[in-house]
Amino acid sequence: LMQLSIPLNFIGFVYREIKQGLIDIEAMFDLLDVAPEIVDKPDAKTLVVDGATVRFDDVVFHYDADRPILKGVSFEVPAGQTIAIVGPSGAGKSTISRLLFRFYDVTGGRITIDGQDVRDVTQESLRAAIGMVPQDTVLFNDTVRYNIGYGRTEADQAEIEEAAQTAQIGEFIATLPKGYDTEVGERGLKLSGGEKQRVAIARTVLKAPPILILDEATSALDIHTEREIQAALDRVSTGRTTLVIAHRLSTVINAHEIIVLDKGMIVERGRHDELLAQDGLYASMWNRQRQAAEAIERLHEVEETD
Ligand code: ADP
Ligand code: MG
Repeated sequence: LMQLSIPLNFIGFVYREIKQGLIDIEAMFDLLDVAPEIVDKPDAKTLVVDGATVRFDDVVFHYDADRPILKGVSFEVPAGQTIAIVGPSGAGKSTISRLLFRFYDVTGGRITIDGQDVRDVTQESLRAAIGMVPQDTVLFNDTVRYNIGYGRTEADQAEIEEAAQTAQIGEFIATLPKGYDTEVGERGLKLSGGEKQRVAIARTVLKAPPILILDEATSALDIHTEREIQAALDRVSTGRTTLVIAHRLSTVINAHEIIVLDKGMIVERGRHDELLAQDGLYASMWNRQRQAAEAIERLHEVEETD
C-alpha cells in the first residue's frame, strides 16, 4: 500500500487534512494508495449547495494513460434522490465515488454539484458536503464516542447517542460495560464488520451531509445484520442525494435509477423492473444472486432439521 515514492510533502498534506478533520481515515488510505496532486484553484470558491443535484457529463478517466477506466459516463442524481451503480468487479464503480470526492480530476468531461464544477470549488467545502460510508471501515484506536463524534467534532453526547440510534448501533453500545467510553480498533474491542459499518453510518448521520456515497460491503453479512444495516442506510439516505454502489441487488430495488456499469461504460439503465424486462446484464446478475441466496437458505434449512 505505502510506496516509498510517496513524497514527504504529500504525507504532510494528508496529516494536515486529518488534523483539520477534513477526510476520513478510509479516505487517507485511498490517498496514500494513489498520491494524486489535487490542489485548489487560486480563485476556488466555496461550494454553494442548493438541493445538491450531482451530474456526471461525459466523464472520461484513467489512472494510467494506457488504460482507460471510465469511457464517457453521464448521469444525474437529482436533489434528494438515490441512484444505484451496479456492475461487475473492476467496472469502475468505486472510481466514480473517488472522482466525486475529487481524489482525482477527470481526464475528460465534468462533474458538477448544483451546476458548480467540482474543480472550481475548494476541496474543504466539497468534502464537507459529502459523506462516505466505505466498504471497509477502519476505526481509530480510540473510544466509540470519538469514532462517532469524528463526524462532527463539536457534537455533544446527546447528538452522538441520537446518531448511534439512527444507525441502529445504540443498543449494542449500551450493552458494553464502558458504553461510549469503550476503546475500539486494533488495541481495543474488536467489532464485527457489520458493527464497524454501523459506526461509520452513525458518524455520517452526525455529519448530516447533503450528499451521500455508500459503497456497500461485499462480504456476506448474515441476513439479520444485512437487514439492520439496510434499515440504517435507508434512514440516512432519505431526503439526501445518494449514490449507492451496490453489490447486493436486493438493496437497489427502490432506487430512483439503477445504472449498470461494465468496463467503464453504462450498458443499461432504468428501474429494477425495466432492467429485468431487458433481460441483459442486470437480469443475469439478479438471477445469479437470487440462486445464490436460495442455495444459502436451503443450506440453513438442512442445518435446522439436522
Ligand atoms: P469497482 O469498484 O467497480 O470494482 P474500481 O473503480 O475500484 O472498480 O476500479 C476500476 C479499475 O481501475 C480496476 O481495473 C482497478 O484495477 C483500476 N484501479 C483502481 N484504482 C487504481 C489505481 N489507484 N491505480 C491504477 N488502477 C486502479
Ligand atoms: Mg469498488
